[in-house]
Amino acid sequence: YSTLRLILGDQLNARHSWFSKQDDECVYVIAELLQETGYVKHHVQKICGFFLAMEQFAMALQKAGHQVLHLTLDETRDFKDLPSLITHLCQQYSIICFEYQRPDEYRLLEQLRDFEVDKSFKKTISKKEWDTEHFLVPFDELAKRFKPGKPGRMETFYRKMRQQHNVLMCDDQPEGGQWNYDAENRAKLKAADLEKIPEPLVFASSTSSVLERLKRHNVQSFGEIGTHLLWPITRQQSLKLLNYFCTHCLPRFGQFQDAMTANSDHQWSLYHSRISFALNTKMLHPKQVIDKAIKAWQENPDAISLAQIEGFVRQILGWREYIRGVYWSNMPDYESLNFLKAEKDLPEWFWTGQTQMSCMHHAITQSLQYAYAHHIQRLMITGNFCLLAGIDPDQVDQWYLGIYIDAIQWVELPNTRGMSQYADGGMVASKPYAGSGNYVHKMSDYCGGCVYNVKEKEGESACPLNSLYWHFMEKHRELLHKNPRTALVYKGWDKKMLADRNAILKRAKWCVNNLNSL
Ligand code: FAD
Repeated sequence: YSTLRLILGDQLNARHSWFSKQDDECVYVIAELLQETGYVKHHVQKICGFFLAMEQFAMALQKAGHQVLHLTLDETRDFKDLPSLITHLCQQYSIICFEYQRPDEYRLLEQLRDFEVDKSFKKTISKKEWDTEHFLVPFDELAKRFKPGKPGRMETFYRKMRQQHNVLMCDDQPEGGQWNYDAENRAKLKAADLEKIPEPLVFASSTSSVLERLKRHNVQSFGEIGTHLLWPITRQQSLKLLNYFCTHCLPRFGQFQDAMTANSDHQWSLYHSRISFALNTKMLHPKQVIDKAIKAWQENPDAISLAQIEGFVRQILGWREYIRGVYWSNMPDYESLNFLKAEKDLPEWFWTGQTQMSCMHHAITQSLQYAYAHHIQRLMITGNFCLLAGIDPDQVDQWYLGIYIDAIQWVELPNTRGMSQYADGGMVASKPYAGSGNYVHKMSDYCGGCVYNVKEKEGESACPLNSLYWHFMEKHRELLHKNPRTALVYKGWDKKMLADRNAILKRAKWCVNNLNSL
């Protein structure tokens, strides 16, 4: 071979221009690496999902006539990192050209850019970086559209994206005359709605060979896994999941986007798509997802209202691309921001789900079981708790980066540190997403089965979120009472009797000091 092309685990894009023609002089390398299993403690389903999808991708490339080296941990165990493996392979195959697709994670981009491929050889080896051809905003445009350290607004970005890509537009006006149909969405699930929720479409790929390898190489992980993985590991499976979503879930996607239920044995993903893993590994392209969903809406406007399709498009054309812009315009500083100076340890029950708070118990248990929670569970259950309790954002990040099947730093970090923890001081969110037990009660049926009382704010049986909420608002009064979006909250609080406020804050202090006992 003369050219070695590296494919990372989240670069499984069969439509990349690399693969438009076969070249026997070019070898593609897909490698399981201890470096990637160890930069954070991962959910076991996440490691299995990536390794199985990489294996399938290698097989598909081979079948299409490409030269492929698929290396498992058995073959790469002795290489301390990615550069040392590449150096070895370049030597072994007398490579003259090393090529890679630009990694989406800062950590890997630095590693590959810093790596001098021909340092230890006598001959010159050229190095070339390619685009991943995945995102809708070209990498080079990010710096123009996102200013480092500056709060931007997703809504402004999203409207421009709609115009630029001509998505849900009627000439120069938004489809239906409005850009945003949020007001029509966000319903709570009633008991009668529960029966109508479609069962999630799941797959069944054997996990045994990967699990044996993880054991053999002493890879640390957490979470549950069975003999079969439920997540899509091929492009075909990903497309099936997308089709299933468009037919069965899209008609109510927006309506129940923020709803949560404890009744989650067969209904753990509600009307959500669960395509984040397929998107983030690049088995699916965002435009392909948007086009498919819009086609479903156009073909069946009676079943799928404009509010549903607009809500879905906003997540992918808007949020996903926006979050990536925030990441690249602010790294590496972003990963150590701690605007609210939060420093408490993450409670131990985040790793077990063993807490008496029903909402936390359900969201965490489900995450351990499926390596999945939907957006509002991540933002308003686990994220909200960490925000109110003042948990060190480094620990919060590590947990989110490890536990979810779709967690890759470029998308995890601005969502966790920014949107949910306000540790970036408002670059992603215009106010902290803080809520009391009242919010959880409004949007879910979690509170019904809880030992704590959501109506109480003080005393031992009071829902911890209620007092923690006021404790948070008091602690950050200086900052938040200036913000027009939070200033009003203080009006009601300040009118309360001093003794009542003190009793609530006393309960909060106990909670903050006894997080592990909640
Ligand atoms: P759906 O609800 O069906 O939405 C469709 C798609 O829209 C998702 O697959 C995703 O690609 C995109 N999307 C929706 N919201 C966002 C968002 N805020 N940012 C980026 N893309 C979005 N998403 C990840 O992909 N990886 C992460 O590591 C991740 N960490 C998160 C951490 C926190 C604290 C929060 C609040 C959100 C996080 N998200 C993350 C965003 C979002 O919660 C997930 O994308 C979504 O829950 C995935 O499930 P789904 O595919 O069923 O999504």
